[in-house]
Amino acid sequence: MKIEEIQPQLYQTFQKLVKNDHLSHAYVFVGGFGNYDLAVWLAKAVFCQEIVEGVPCGRCRICRLIDANEFSELQIIEPDGQTIKVEQIRELLASFASTGFESTKKVVIIKDAEKMGQNAANALLKTIEEPDSEVYIFLLTENENLLLPTIQSRTQKVIFPKNTQYLSEFLQKKGLLKTDADLLAAITDSTDKAQYLAESSWYLPASKALANFVQTAITSAEIAFLKVIELLPHFEGKAEQEVAFDVLLVLFNQLGATNLTEKTFKAEKMWRANVRFGSCLESICL
Ligand SMILES: [Zn+2]
Repeated sequence: MKIEEIQPQLYQTFQKLVKNDHLSHAYVFVGGFGNYDLAVWLAKAVFCQEIVEGVPCGRCRICRLIDANEFSELQIIEPDGQTIKVEQIRELLASFASTGFESTKKVVIIKDAEKMGQNAANALLKTIEEPDSEVYIFLLTENENLLLPTIQSRTQKVIFPKNTQYLSEFLQKKGLLKTDADLLAAITDSTDKAQYLAESSWYLPASKALANFVQTAITSAEIAFLKVIELLPHFEGKAEQEVAFDVLLVLFNQLGATNLTEKTFKAEKMWRANVRFGSCLESICL
């Protein structure tokens, strides 16, 4: 997928920054819509041998190495288990100190940056803040509130807005019917999550069952009440049940069923307070 399609405005903004040599050294990219893609695109922009007007060529040796994830001056860090450990950052910095084979510039992309602890963050930020540093870092997160204050105060924040239309088209290209794609695009906040659900064996049959339930609830609450039991096998785990409420809210809302939308909100609150899933669904029909 191309970053210019997912985030056309951010793409233009960053193209200008690159062209005018105004790219900052430390960014936080917030949101699951193309933040990784833009970070990789910017890595190409930093290193590309044939960059034109702030746009990396995508064809030179370095652009191709980056696409293959084999370019040594670009490092991508992911959590090792539940956290990004200070050892990971130390190793990274040590590798920077010892190489410099391709370029004195370095780019680091940190996935799930909210999982970086204080020591790891300080080690990393200290390097960037050295006056002759040519390190660029892109911290990716879907939840900026979980980032350490020390990171928030020392980086530039860029919000990646949700692009529902793009997401729906993305899902249709993966083979989903438009109705299914629109619904899934409405309930998810990232292409990763949407694709994960689309490819899971349970989601599509489960969402169809919910669509039937919604149609029934609109015509007869009593019959819908009796049908709750048929829904339960589709939603055995907490993660699936959470998706169920998201789907119900979107569907009731689309049909303008204000009363049922409000009841679903209440049902979800009950569920979060540990009331049984089935009882919460039944409460929508009362
Ligand atoms: Zn290139």
